[in-house]
Amino acid sequence: MSTKGNIFVVSAASGTGKTSLLNKLTAQNPNVRLAISHTTRTKREDEVDGKHYYFVDTNTFEQMIGDGAFVEHARVHNQYYGTSTQEIERLRQSDFDVILEIDVQGAEQIRKLLPESIGIFILPPSWEVLEQRLNQRGTENPDSIALRLKNSRYEIEQASLFDYLVVNDDLQQAVDNVNHIILASRFRQTNNADALISLLQSR
Ligand code: 5GP
Repeated sequence: MSTKGNIFVVSAASGTGKTSLLNKLTAQNPNVRLAISHTTRTKREDEVDGKHYYFVDTNTFEQMIGDGAFVEHARVHNQYYGTSTQEIERLRQSDFDVILEIDVQGAEQIRKLLPESIGIFILPPSWEVLEQRLNQRGTENPDSIALRLKNSRYEIEQASLFDYLVVNDDLQQAVDNVNHIILASRFRQTNNADALISLLQSR
């Protein structure tokens, strides 16, 4: 089996359950690492700085943009979010599969910059379930919920630009499906070129 990892971009509308899915996936597959993004949004109660995000203020974020510190960044739900070059380099030194859990604007930037990356879009089973999950999560205030719902239509319209679509109806099923995509991607011809070349050269 190839030892080379891939870069995956995973996007979804807010409330789809993407974070639960990816947390379960990383617990299940030790070869996968999630890139830690920077953000200016307020830290939620259950979040840890440096683990879920690097939480920074707007001045620091804008300074980092000016310094060219990000491979991609975007304004999402009125806050800044971005993936630093340093974070990508840290994870790419290993043979891990790396997941960027980013929004559709960031996904577009990564698609151009790293065309070999693989895009996975997570769909909710219906609009009703999306709204329910967002309300039940209890982490957002009503304004933030309304804004996230308003943005969800635009986000889901971008799904056709991704390589894979996975519906998150049953969580474990969705985790397994994303895992199958990650495992299958390790066997892409480009990942296994060394094995092919050495076989052809040996006779
Ligand atoms: P949340 O505030 O719910 O953690 O994330 C809101 C949105 O920002 C989600 O769509 C999430 O994927 C996206 N996001 C998180 N980190 C990044 C990042 O580094 N870059 C971009 N472009 N979006 C991000």
